[in-house]
Amino acid sequence: MSKTRPPLQRLYEPRAYDTGAWPDSHWRATAPVAAPRPPLGGDRVTDVAVIGAGYAGLNAALELAGRFGRAVTVLDAGQPGWGASGRNGGFCVMGGTKLSARQIVARFGVEAARDYDRFQVEAVHYVDEVMQAQRIDADRGPDGELCLAHSPRAMRALHDAAMFESETFGRHIQVLRPDELLEMGLSTHWSPGGVLNPVGFSLHPMKYVLGLARAVEAEGVEIFADSPVGGLTRDGDAWRLSTPGGTVWARQVLVATNGYSSDNLPPWIGGRMLPVLSSVFVTRPLSDSERRAQGWSSRIMTFDSRELLHYYRLLPDNRMMFGMRGALRATDAALADAHARARRHMAAMFPHFAGAEVERHWSGLVCITGDLMPFAGAVPGADGVFAGFGWHGNGVSMASYSGARIARVMTGAGDLPDLLRQPPRRFPLPSLRRLGLAAAYAAMRVTDGRLKSHGKARGAS
Ligand SMILES: Cc1cc2nc3c(=O)[nH]c(=O)nc-3n(C[C@H](O)[C@H](O)[C@H](O)COP(=O)(O)OP(=O)(O)OC[C@H]3O[C@@H](n4cnc5c(N)ncnc54)[C@H](O)[C@@H]3O)c2cc1C
Repeated sequence: MSKTRPPLQRLYEPRAYDTGAWPDSHWRATAPVAAPRPPLGGDRVTDVAVIGAGYAGLNAALELAGRFGRAVTVLDAGQPGWGASGRNGGFCVMGGTKLSARQIVARFGVEAARDYDRFQVEAVHYVDEVMQAQRIDADRGPDGELCLAHSPRAMRALHDAAMFESETFGRHIQVLRPDELLEMGLSTHWSPGGVLNPVGFSLHPMKYVLGLARAVEAEGVEIFADSPVGGLTRDGDAWRLSTPGGTVWARQVLVATNGYSSDNLPPWIGGRMLPVLSSVFVTRPLSDSERRAQGWSSRIMTFDSRELLHYYRLLPDNRMMFGMRGALRATDAALADAHARARRHMAAMFPHFAGAEVERHWSGLVCITGDLMPFAGAVPGADGVFAGFGWHGNGVSMASYSGARIARVMTGAGDLPDLLRQPPRRFPLPSLRRLGLAAAYAAMRVTDGRLKSHGKARGAS
């Protein structure tokens, strides 16, 4: 299908933004088929225009229309959930930043850090509440998120961070020895232990985002798909949003495009964010004997302490989902390389799963900022324009809740933590962001060290 492409300035190769093709994701394959939403045709006037039908945009729309009675129009370049919200790992957890708790306290002070910590906890609970209130069945998994240390030194750092967070925020993080992990059904030959944050749960990302889209439409919001906004210009006291099929005028606009943002929509965002590719694969269901041999039966969400971390979990039907970052280009060859690397890593970490065929693999864009903190709030110098982005790979809860909270700010009925409202600084030399990322990845690989491969799994039968 040929589409008129507006001149959006994007960082990656066109394949990353090809809304004409869905990623071959497990989530799309296992979610109920959704009727495609139509593109915008003709002109319309609305109170609020939302750009992006992911967690941020849809939760904002739900709040704006459902709670405040605003007329809302949602525009997406693809279908709802085409972006990261339909293709992530389904970890609904705390996060949203690349800074450690200690760094946040050092940079912003302890009160602001506590405020942000509370926001993250509320964000996880918010997703639970919205799924219950909107009757969204998204395969909610067990509570808790585990971080496994990849070296004794990393274990000491995790222990130290857990103590600091418990003391500073009053949240208990459990420190677990290998024998305690084993009892939980988590045997690893490479980890000297881990820490368990009780806040968080897993979900089916596509079922969640499609449930949101339905809930939003039930509030009278129209979602227009295949409608990339190519221009956002001031027109009297309204904003004019141009798409190939029509134009929307709105007093207020929310830009909720995160990793799929363009550097010129709005121009202020240019150089302030860095989209980063993350790759995921899902194996066929693992047999009882494979899981027994590996000593891995827990469905808890797990990641590890590496800089270039792995994230993985057993899905409800015993498929293994495994993800990591690392690709620098959105080309077939680079993505195939990233997938092959992820498979090698999984084989080294889970030798008894190494032979399990991969059923699907895909990738998508997460978003980091120059300050390593997310942004949610008013866009400086553009009256009535708001934005939310930079969830640093933790957008299931953070994009969702920030979207809802930005909506309250847009109606004058709420505020946001100071930390989120501070505009991220531009990256130095923005045109060289990918080069900088390549250098950062090279340094991270050195810091992370080699993977211990094919050791004997503890608990092997
Ligand atoms: C592989 C992968 C794994 C991840 N795993 C996790 C995880 O386990 N846990 C977690 O918390 N987070 C995870 N994330 C991150 C999380 O998915 C995102 O942070 C979150 O979905 C962002 O939601 P959003 O609504 O802000 O943006 P998105 O869901 O990315 O939505 C942005 C939308 O904007 C649209 N758009 C862009 N430009 C335009 C335009 N000009 N006009 C119209 N529409 C436009 C896009 O089509 C897209 O649909 C992962 C991400 C990826 C890619």
